Amino acid sequence: MKIICIGRNYLEHIRELDNTDRLPGAPQFFMKPDTALLRNNDPFYVPSFSRQLDYETELVVRICRVGRSVEERFARRFYTEVGLGIDFTARDLQREVIANGLPWEICKAFDRSAAVSPTFVPLAELGGDIQKLHFEMSLNGQVRQRGDTAMMIFGVDRIISYVSQFVTLKMGDLLFTGTPVGVGPVHPGDHLTATLEGRTLLDFDIR
Ligand code: MG
Repeated sequence: MKIICIGRNYLEHIRELDNTDRLPGAPQFFMKPDTALLRNNDPFYVPSFSRQLDYETELVVRICRVGRSVEERFARRFYTEVGLGIDFTARDLQREVIANGLPWEICKAFDRSAAVSPTFVPLAELGGDIQKLHFEMSLNGQVRQRGDTAMMIFGVDRIISYVSQFVTLKMGDLLFTGTPVGVGPVHPGDHLTATLEGRTLLDFDIR
């Protein structure tokens, strides 16, 4: 399986990251290897190579069939369940690689950088519209991020159509759909929880 992540998919997050209103012309994606998975609400250990390790809370879509060059109108067939994830990002290293035009792997693809909820919820139980979901993340009991999938710049079906032109989607692949405003650092001793439509899916320690 592979982990496909979308960057810059919520306007307010682009503003906090780049201080600009310039929208991407197409979905921007990068990938994490399977060794990046952090499952079962296991603790996240802050790696020693970063001085600013940020959380990014994201809706995660589990792909349920094989497809390439999927037409947007058929993209809905490629998922039935959604969960939550944290796209852990070494922000200091990301600034360096962006400034130098280098690949993103060292800041995005490191071990355990993709926390994924142990539970995925059938979309049908959440109302059936993937672009009408609300999620929230709290650190130490304080809400840090609130996301509404209606605010995505590129909706899930558009992302699936776009990405599958380049990369074949396979059953079990995970699609991280971008983070809303409010990203920030984690520190050892923090506790992270996140809810999707009021259901707690992420609940783990930072060490
Ligand atoms: Mg992200």
